[in-house]
Amino acid sequence: MRLSYYCTSPSCGKINYIKVKSDNRYDLKDEIGEEFNERCKHCGHHTKKHINRLYGEMNMTLLLIAFLVAAVLTVIVWYLGYIVGAITFGIPAFFWFDQKKRATDFNKMMID
Ligand SMILES: [Zn+2]
Repeated sequence: MRLSYYCTSPSCGKINYIKVKSDNRYDLKDEIGEEFNERCKHCGHHTKKHINRLYGEMNMTLLLIAFLVAAVLTVIVWYLGYIVGAITFGIPAFFWFDQKKRATDFNKMMID
């Protein structure tokens, strides 16, 4: 998960992100300890914070990929739906028109 924290330097205060494997604070404590010490990527100021001050962020890249996959799947299913629909309605329709044509042709033709 991506965690965010604010730089403690008064002149900076920018948001920083750290990537961790843990999905909760208990695992995080095992992973990085109760306190973390990170250098701000913007000003280089060392920020020492308790892990309770770290906030989890949604992985937007993953969400974006999920949305794209869902969109592609929707289009495919939709497209397949049209094909399946065309077959299910097309076959009886073909026979119906064929039978109607035969019947019409038969009825039109009279013997002398
Ligand atoms: Zn900073």
